[in-house]
Amino acid sequence: MWDIEEFESAARVAVEELSRYVADSQSGTARVLNRTPPRELAERLHLPELIEKGGLTPEAFRGFLRAFLDEGTRLHHPAYLAHQVASPDFPAALADFVHGATNNPMAVYEMGASAATVEFEVLRWMLDKVGFPDGGGVLTHGGSLANLTALLAARARAVPSAWEEGVPGDLAILAPSSAHYSVSRAASILGMGQRAVIPLPTDSLGRIDVARLPSSFDRRPIALVAGACATGTGLHDDLRAVGQWCRERGIWFHVDAAHGASALLSERHAHLLDGISLADSVIWDAHKMLRTSGLSAAVLVRREGDLDAAFQQQASYLFYGDQGFDLISRTVECTKAALGLKVFLNLAWRGERGLGDYVARQYDTAHRFWELARERPGFVLPYEPESNIVCFRYGDGDQTVIRERLMADGAFHLTSTELDGVRHLRVTVMAPATDERHLEALLDTVAGGRSTT
Ligand SMILES: *Cc1c(COP(=O)(O)O)cnc(C)c1O
Repeated sequence: MWDIEEFESAARVAVEELSRYVADSQSGTARVLNRTPPRELAERLHLPELIEKGGLTPEAFRGFLRAFLDEGTRLHHPAYLAHQVASPDFPAALADFVHGATNNPMAVYEMGASAATVEFEVLRWMLDKVGFPDGGGVLTHGGSLANLTALLAARARAVPSAWEEGVPGDLAILAPSSAHYSVSRAASILGMGQRAVIPLPTDSLGRIDVARLPSSFDRRPIALVAGACATGTGLHDDLRAVGQWCRERGIWFHVDAAHGASALLSERHAHLLDGISLADSVIWDAHKMLRTSGLSAAVLVRREGDLDAAFQQQASYLFYGDQGFDLISRTVECTKAALGLKVFLNLAWRGERGLGDYVARQYDTAHRFWELARERPGFVLPYEPESNIVCFRYGDGDQTVIRERLMADGAFHLTSTELDGVRHLRVTVMAPATDERHLEALLDTVAGGRSTT
């Protein structure tokens, strides 16, 4: 049984240490990341000893947690400009804590009526935002699984017998080469093979070129995948034009809006998603721009029945008395976390408006970075950003050397990506703490050799 007093004092320690951690991160006083080698780090955190002997107390937990937090990557830090995972907001963090203590994982409704109901309402809200009044949805552990689930629904529509009989050899998924790698992975997992992914014509920035879409294919397309936005560039496909093209040909239109769907909440940016309501399926990651921890991703379909058709599974001990609101028949997962609660608490605290303002602010800050960088000698910016993702090069040298230098100094954390075969540095403005001063400091540091913040 839990010793309630011990729990309370340990939880208090966690709150105190996390508060300090977020405060030091937001103010930018700590290093943004560390990369201590695992063996050395295991010793520093006393992991082998603790695993073997146990015996952690609230006070010893403080020491452990402080070191653990210090050695990690700080997503609240203004110099965190790297991977597209959320700088989490605290209501979502509380949801993770509540889930950890209650563990109501809703495979079936009776495992957690409140957690499941929260998920239904969050999905209903998302369906309304993308424009699927008769749609259905489910939350999954991440966008990769969400893409797989949506493409499985597309396969079920094209070849209803595939669940029983396996897949015919002539199926295809149409996608630009800028599509997230989980799309081509899904092709293999679905038994279609990599060769089933037919690359669509694009412009030099990886956007689908609708005018050059072929009039016929050697294989039967089960779906066309468009990006909103593309992971590498943060640029959006023309959803309306692509969606109309799919409609005319009866091809399932899947919009991978893992990153970009949250822009629907910003009046000034919702136009980027124009045409999303033409989709047959959409995915939307809350752990990117809705500020939840990983993971919480939505699969949304235009026709509710399409999700149920995706999984034609019999499991008599679980499915026998399906009351019509069990989520298990719509997911790869059996047990899953209370994924709706963290989205809900962020909404309940900040409002749809607050989350939309956050998205707008991050997109604006990235745009400001583009303006500032363009004015400086040596910086090349291949396109005007549409989201909070910006790609650039500095000088003619190896860009990865610049990235390594910034990370080794603990000064800035960026990523890099290839555009049209050329490696670029890539900034993703995730933390609300990042402002123009940090962007100027980044430009100084990239150009100046040594790092200063
Ligand atoms: C991040 C991303 C994914 C994958 O989502 P995960 O939650 O990391 O699995 C898929 N598509 C796009 C466009 C993304 O940006």
